[in-house]
Amino acid sequence: MPSLTRLEAAERAALLTVRHYRITLDLDRTGADFGSDTVIEFDATRPGASTFLDLRASQVLSVLLNGEPVDPAGLVDGRLPLTGLRARNVLRVRARMAYSTDGEGIHRHVDPADGQTYLYAMSFLDAAPRWFGCFDQPDLKASFDVEVHCPPDWSVVGNGAATRSAPGHWQLASTRPLATYFVTLVAGPYASITAEHDGIALGVHTRASLAEHLKAEAPDILAVTAAALDRYHELFGIRYPFGEYHQAFVPDFNAGAMENPGCVTLRDQFIFRSAATRGQRSVRASTIAHEMAHMWFGDLVTMRWWDDLWLNESFAEYMGYRVCATMTGADGTGRSTLAELAWIEFALHRKDWGRVADQAPSNHPVAGNGSESAAAALADFDGISYAKGASVLKQLAAHLGDEVFFGGLRRHFERHRFGNADFADLIAAWTEAGAVDLASWAELWLRTSGLDTLTAEQRAHDDAPGADQPPGPGEQRDTGQVWLNRTSPDGSRRPHTVRVTGFDAEATPRLAEQVTLDDDAVPVGPEDTGPLRLVVADSADDSWAKIRFGTAGWQPVADLLPRITAAPTRVVLYNAVRDAVRDADLDPAQALDMVLAAVAVEPVELVASELLKFATDELAANYAKPADRPGRRARVAGLAHRLLAVAEAGGDLQLEAARAGIRASDDAGWLRAWWTGEQVPAGLVIDAELRWALVARLAALGELRDADIDAELARDESTSGVVHAARARALRPDPAAKQAAWALLTEPSQRPAYELYASAESFFEPSQSELTAGYLPRFFEEMPATARHRHGWALGSVIFRAFPVSAASADVLRLAEDALAGSKAAHLEPPVRRAFVDGTDALRRAVRSLQRYGGV
Ligand SMILES: [Zn+2]
Repeated sequence: MPSLTRLEAAERAALLTVRHYRITLDLDRTGADFGSDTVIEFDATRPGASTFLDLRASQVLSVLLNGEPVDPAGLVDGRLPLTGLRARNVLRVRARMAYSTDGEGIHRHVDPADGQTYLYAMSFLDAAPRWFGCFDQPDLKASFDVEVHCPPDWSVVGNGAATRSAPGHWQLASTRPLATYFVTLVAGPYASITAEHDGIALGVHTRASLAEHLKAEAPDILAVTAAALDRYHELFGIRYPFGEYHQAFVPDFNAGAMENPGCVTLRDQFIFRSAATRGQRSVRASTIAHEMAHMWFGDLVTMRWWDDLWLNESFAEYMGYRVCATMTGADGTGRSTLAELAWIEFALHRKDWGRVADQAPSNHPVAGNGSESAAAALADFDGISYAKGASVLKQLAAHLGDEVFFGGLRRHFERHRFGNADFADLIAAWTEAGAVDLASWAELWLRTSGLDTLTAEQRAHDDAPGADQPPGPGEQRDTGQVWLNRTSPDGSRRPHTVRVTGFDAEATPRLAEQVTLDDDAVPVGPEDTGPLRLVVADSADDSWAKIRFGTAGWQPVADLLPRITAAPTRVVLYNAVRDAVRDADLDPAQALDMVLAAVAVEPVELVASELLKFATDELAANYAKPADRPGRRARVAGLAHRLLAVAEAGGDLQLEAARAGIRASDDAGWLRAWWTGEQVPAGLVIDAELRWALVARLAALGELRDADIDAELARDESTSGVVHAARARALRPDPAAKQAAWALLTEPSQRPAYELYASAESFFEPSQSELTAGYLPRFFEEMPATARHRHGWALGSVIFRAFPVSAASADVLRLAEDALAGSKAAHLEPPVRRAFVDGTDALRRAVRSLQRYGGV
C-alpha cells in the first residue's frame, strides 16, 4: 500500500481546509467488521480541482460528494479520488471496516479471563483510515463529533467528554481542532475510576478483569497525573486545553502509550497484577508525564509534516523526566521514588537504546530527515528521536537557561495553538525570547548523526597533547593536568557542557569541574590535581556521548565502580561498559567480572536489575560462544542467589534478584522447587508473573510438556497468561514446538500481536542453537514475505524481536548481509529493511567481539 508522500501532503494541504468530521460508528462484540459513517465538511481553494480521500475499508457502502455519488470502484490502494470539488464541500462515506488484532485501527481484544470484548482505536501514524474515511495528514486539523452505537453494557470514552444518551448510544463532545492521528475511542465493559484535579475531570480505565488491580494502582497513577498537571501549568503558562483527561490502560498496545488529546491510551501492563518495584513505578510515572507533555507539544501545536516528529518525542521525553525528577511524592515504602530514579531510568533504559541506534548503519540526524513518506517517518522513529533528542534538549535548556527556554515555548504555544508549526517556528520563538546563535547550535546537534567519544584523563606535564611520549597502558600517574578530549565520528564540532570528576584510589572525588568542551581537547581544573585513579567525563550524565578512559584503560573502572557513591556516575560507567562491549573495545569476560562485582553492592535496585539483564541476555548469550554460555549464566545465577540471601524480605532487591536468578538459571531442580512453592525465601510471593517466569525457564530447559503449559494457563486464564503461554511454548526445545512457533511468526493469523512478539523473542533461545540452526536461512528467506499480511508496528517488530542475534557467527552474518545486498533487498518494505539493518548491526557487533575475544 503506497504511503502518503511529503509532496502529496503539501499539495493536499494547499488545496483543502478541513472544517469538521462527524463520525458515527456501529460497534459490536463478534462481527468481523463494523459500520463507519463519516461526514466531512471541507473547503477547496480551487473549485473544480481534484484530491483523494484516505480510506481502508473492507467494503464501501456509499460515497456522496456534495450529494452526488462517487464510484467506490475508484478506491485503489486506500485512496479514493474525489473530483470536481467546490469551494465548500460535504463528503459522506459509509463503509464497513475490519476490526484489527495488530493494535492499529479499531483493535478488538477478547479477554480470556471472562470472555468480555474490548475495543480501542489507534490512529497513529497512518491508521486513521482503518476506521474512518479522512484526509490523513498532521496539518489538516479539524474538530470532531463522534457518535457510537454499541452493546448496552459498554461504556465509551474518547477525545471529547462522553455522554450516554440511551443504553448503547453515546455521544462524544465536539473537540477542538485535532490532527487525524490523535482521534481515538475506547469502548467496552471497561472498569473506571474517576477523580478531579484543579477543575479537570480525570478518569482511569482498564478491563474489568483488572479492576481490583486498577483500584490498587489508581491512587499512585492519579497522584502522578495531578502533580504533572500542576508542573506543566506552571511551566507552560497555558492551561491543559482539551477538557477531561482520561487514561485508558488497554490490551495488546504496541507502544508504551499514545498521546490522544483528552484520552491517552497506555499499555495495560502498567496496571501491575503482580508485585512491582519502585523502578517499574518510575517507568510508569515518566510515561504518564511524557504523554501529558504531548498535550501541549504535539497536540496543541502539531508538526506540519512527520519530519518534525522527533521534536514531539524529544520534547515529551525531556519534559516527562524533568517533571518526574521534581516530584516529591513518596511510594508505599515512604521513599521518594520519582525524584531519585527519573534521570537514572532515562540514562539506563532510554539513552542505552538511543546510543545503539545512533551508532547503527540506520542512524540519522535527529532533525531534518525529510521523511519523504509517512512510512519512512515511522521507520525513523527510534531511540534517536526520543533519547538523543531529549538529551540534546536537556543540553539546550541548560545552555539557554529556563527563562529563555520556557519563554520561547510559551510564545510558540500561544502563537500556534490548535494549529501547526515546524522547527523553524520554534527556533524563531526561542530567538525572540533571547536565545542567541541558536541556528548554528541546532545545526551541529540536530542535523548531524553519530556519537562523539569523550575521554578524560590525567597527563603528566610533559605529555600534554602533542608531547612525544604518551604514557603506556595502565601506567600509574602521580599527578598532572586533567584533559577532556572529544573525538567525533563525522568530524562535527559538537559542543558539550559536562561535569568531569576525578577520583582517588579510595573512590573519593578530588576534582569536580563543569566544563564546556568547544575544542577537541580542553584542560580541566588546576594544573596539578594530585594523584587520581580514575577520571570520568560527563560524570553527571548531562550530554550525549560515549565515555572512555584513554590510556588508563578499564582496570581503574573495575576497581572503583563498586565504591563510587554518586548513582549518576555509576550509571555513566555501566553504560560505558555496555557500549564498549558492543564496540569490541572490552572483553565480555572482563565486563562480566566488572558487572557482577559492582552489582553485588549496587544500592539502586533498578540499576542492578538492568545490569543483571545485560549480563544474562548479552554477556552470557550473543557475546559468548555457545560453550561459554552455561558457565556465564551460572555466575549470574550465583550472584542472584547471594543477593537473595541478604535481601530484605519483601523488598525490591529480593524481587529483582529472584527475577534475575530465574532468568539465568539452568538448575531445573531449584526452579521446580520454587514453582511448587518450596524453598521460597520469606517475603517473596510466587505470584502470577513470577510463576510464568519459572515456567518460561523450565520450558526452555526442556522440563515441561505442552500439557504442563496448558495446566498453567488454566490457573491464569488472563490476557497476560495467554501471552506467557505462547512464550513458554516457543521456548520448548522440541522440533514440533519450534515448527508451531515458526508458523505463528510467518503465516497469517488473527492472533494478538503480543503473542507473536513473545514467540518471536523466544524462538532463537541462546541455549538452543543446534535445534534452531535449520531456521537461520529460512529467517532471511521467509520473513520479508510477512509484509503481505502484516503492516505497521507489528511487521517490523516481529522481525526485529526474532532476529537471530544469539546465533552470532560469520556464516549467519553472511546470510544477513546477503539479505540486505541482493536484488530481493530492493523490494524490502521499509519496516522489514529497518529490522534487518538493525538486527544485522547487532549481529555484526557480536561476531566482531567473538572473533576478538572469544577465540572463534
Ligand atoms: Zn511520545
